[in-house]
Order: sequence, then structure tokens, then C-alpha cells
Amino acid sequence: MAKYIFVTGGVTSSLGKGIISASLAKLLQERGFNITIQKFDPYINVDPGTLNPYEHGECFVTDDGAETDLDLGHYERFLNKPTSQANNVTTGRIYQTVINKERAGDYLGKTVQVIPHITDEIKRRVKLLEQQDDYDIIITEIGGTVGDIESLPYLEALRQMRQDIGRNNCLVIHLTLIPYLSAAGELKTKPTQHSVKELLKTGIQPDILVCRTEKKLSSDLRKKLALFCNVERNAVIEAIDADTIYDVPLLMLKENLDQIVLSKLKLRKGHEPELTAWKEFLGRLKNPTNEVKIGLVGKYNELPDAYKSIHEAFVHAGAYNECKVKVKPIHSESLESGDVAKKLKNLHGILVAPGFGERGIEGKIAAINYVRENNIPFFGICLGMQCAIVEFARNVLKLNGAVSTEVNAKTKHPIIDLMPDQKETIAKGGTMRLGAYSCKLVKGSLAARAYGKTEVKERHRHRYEFNNKYAKKLEKAGMTASGINPDTKLVEIVEIPEHPFFVGVQFHPELKSTVENPHPLFNAFVKATIKHAKG
Ligand code: GLN
Repeated sequence: MAKYIFVTGGVTSSLGKGIISASLAKLLQERGFNITIQKFDPYINVDPGTLNPYEHGECFVTDDGAETDLDLGHYERFLNKPTSQANNVTTGRIYQTVINKERAGDYLGKTVQVIPHITDEIKRRVKLLEQQDDYDIIITEIGGTVGDIESLPYLEALRQMRQDIGRNNCLVIHLTLIPYLSAAGELKTKPTQHSVKELLKTGIQPDILVCRTEKKLSSDLRKKLALFCNVERNAVIEAIDADTIYDVPLLMLKENLDQIVLSKLKLRKGHEPELTAWKEFLGRLKNPTNEVKIGLVGKYNELPDAYKSIHEAFVHAGAYNECKVKVKPIHSESLESGDVAKKLKNLHGILVAPGFGERGIEGKIAAINYVRENNIPFFGICLGMQCAIVEFARNVLKLNGAVSTEVNAKTKHPIIDLMPDQKETIAKGGTMRLGAYSCKLVKGSLAARAYGKTEVKERHRHRYEFNNKYAKKLEKAGMTASGINPDTKLVEIVEIPEHPFFVGVQFHPELKSTVENPHPLFNAFVKATIKHAKG
């Protein structure tokens, strides 16, 4: 049977439960344990696919086509292992299952209630991962902050689980904030004391406190926290602000978080965590020999989390190339008023981001026109590729008014269009082309050279596709389809061989970039920007 670790959050949201969970998991993985992480989100949406990126940041997509919370991206980037639908569950999904069962008559004659029916379903979902693999340890991150009404059923399920399987098999880590009051010149423990009390009200005594702080925790302060929160002195862990999220596993190692967890779970310690590759990555990340500036043309720029995986993929590819990649967010709408050359000055490359809807499209097309004509490295992802094709159709093929039917359903040149099966789809939740699909690469193409192979699998999340009716015309004019889905013949990659680096992909390569396996296309793009910077 697997052992369970639950991670709850106190005082405020955004303390980095995902990073702490992923860092602990990394240490345990590198000690030789088979481990996975799951996230429970307390909102009613069945999945985050229908949420605006401004509300919840990027929607991460797994190989099996689940639209999930962006924390799953951190789990994959740290553990270098794919996650799946079972790794992310929302309150909406829990209720949907229970209500469907009720309608099917599974509870005939019974009153269906939060306890036991909802809590039982939560517990079933927590344990579901055990059927997937022989895990030694399963970490479950409970979204939200202790004290929220929405989190209560999860905490109750956790209390019951502890009762069922015992504290040696089920550990609770409470991540909390120790704020620094500059007027008093002091770190304050009171919010944490209150947060632990709130947790105690639900019948849960945390075993370990992980304390987010901007200053070091003194020994006295640790003692005080241990005393007031009823945890052991060595179980008060400092999580000081770090330069990069990738420092956190090493900070947790220094605090012995992994050893404390193992001794509380009565597990053998295994060997010391094998972090050579991780440290090498950090060494390259922190000692770059080059620097480039890349423009990220998007429309959700106010919230960097909206493009989380793209930012992280640049970190990985930057370290791979020993290059500091400075990403400059550029609002696509700001490019619609002209002066594109001035606005894109001093950039060594442009990435045009994924997105939905009409807003900002013309700005993206203007940026692409500029970098195509000026031989500046270009990388377009999903909507970014679609815009690159539209730009080429309008300005090279001279197809006036060419655009995606997402923007204008009545365009004369529907160069990006819905597939017949999508035309009949009305429901919005979970109905896009989602998850991993095969892609065959044309030998000798830039893509094939970057990957070093001719068959890959990449993750998708979109409704619209390149309209193959235009394939020949495009090819003749110099834009080639270098990646094709072998089953459906859909175009997945386009490139312009004449250009130093001009690549558009219909899939989301950023979702598969990890510390250990930086994505080949990001690596190649960063390399091209370095070349461009050197002139
Ligand atoms: N809006 C486009 C589509 O649905 C692109 C989606 C995306 O960029 N993820 O096809």
C-alpha cells in the first residue's frame, strides 16, 4: 500500500504549495522512491478548461487529454514524469460523479449527503492513483486556504483517511506564511497560530509546518512555532524566498524535509538524493555565457502565470544553451496601432503565444510580418502558428482577407478552419482536440533536425486546424509543412526553410519541457536567437 502525504495551505493563497510538493517529491524520487503528486481544486468547474487564464493562469494539458491545473506542469517539470487526469480533481468533478450515480440509482432509498457520499468520493479519487502504478508515496495537494468553506469536505476526507490508515501512513504538511513587519522589524507567527487552530477545528493536527518567509527563521522563532502549533521542533521547516523555483529542492534538502517525512512515515531512508543532474542544471542556469531578449507576443501578459509553461520552457532551454533568456511580454493589441519596428526593436526573437478569440489577432499578424521580412527568429505556438499561416497567405499568397474562421466565419479564404467533427460540437467543456497525438516529421526539415528523429508525440489544445486545401499553394510559395499527423493528415508544423528560424507548431511543446528534458524546439529557437544576437 502507498503512503500518503497531504499538503494544505494556510494564511494566504499563492504560497507555492505546488513548488513545495514538487520539491519534496523530487527529493524522495531521487532517494529511490516511486512517487506521484495530485492536486484537488475546490472550485465547481469540472476542469479548469472553461476558466479564463486571468482567473487561474494557464490550463495545463496531459498526454491523456485532461485539461488541468498549472501545478501539474510543475510536477512534470520537477519529476520528469507525465501526469494524467487522475492527478487533478475538482469539486465539480466529484459532485458530477456523485450526482450521476444518484441518477443511475446507485444510492436508491438513501439521502445523498456531503458526509459520507462526497467525502467517500474524495477518498476514492485520492486512492485512484494506486491503481495506476506501484507508488511508494502519493502526495496530495489540497487547493485553496484552510478556513475556506469550499475546502471543508476535503479536510474532512483527509481526517477520515488518517483515521482509516493511521498517522504512520498519512502525513499532513501545512504550508504557511510568516510575514515580516518592517515597522516592527519582526517576523510574526500569529497568522500561522490561527491557521493551525483553524485546521485543528476540522480535527487535523499538522505533523510538519513549512514556513514561507522572506527572512531567516531564528531558532527561538522555530521553538515558538513548535510550542504554539504543537509540532516537533525539527518539523518546523523554513522555506525562504528563492532566486528560482528550481532552488527549492536544495533548500528543502538543507532543512531535512525529506528525512523528517520519511521518519514520520516509518519508511527506510533509501540512499541520499541523487541530485547531480539537477545541480548541473542549476549551475548552467546561474552562469550563462550569453544573453538574449525574446518578445512574447500575447494577450494575457498582465498575468505571467497565463504563459507559465512557456516561461519555464525558456528557463530550461536557456540553461541548455548556457544563455540567459530575458522574456519581454508584448501586448499584441499594442502592435495594432503601427510602429511595429520600433516596438520590436532590440529583440533577438519573437514567440507568438497561444490564445483564443479575436482580440489582439491583428497585432500578432503584424509582429509575424515584421520578423518574417526581417529574418528575425520566430516561433509560433498554436494560435501563433495559425497567425503565421494567415500572415503568409495574406502577404505572400496575396489572399486578401484570409483569416481563421474563429475570427471571421464568412471569410473568403478560410485558411484556418474547423474540422467537420468540430462543426457539430456545441458544448464547450473538454471538446477541443486535446492530449497527445503523433506527428511525422519531414526528413531534413528544421523540426526533424531539432528533434533528432522523425516521429514525435506532442500535446494539443485547440479547435481550429490548417485547411489542407491551401497546402500546395503554401508549399510552392516557400512555407512547408514539416510535421503531419500520420492518421488524419492534419498539418502540425510549418516552417520557412529560406528564413534563419521560422517555425510554427499547432501543438504545445512547452507542456513537455522538463529540467531533465528541455524541449528540442525551444532549444533550437534559443540557439537561433543567440546566433541572431551575435549578428
Ligand atoms: N484558438 C485557436 C484554436 O482553438 C488556438 C488555440 C490555442 O492557441 N491553444 O484552434
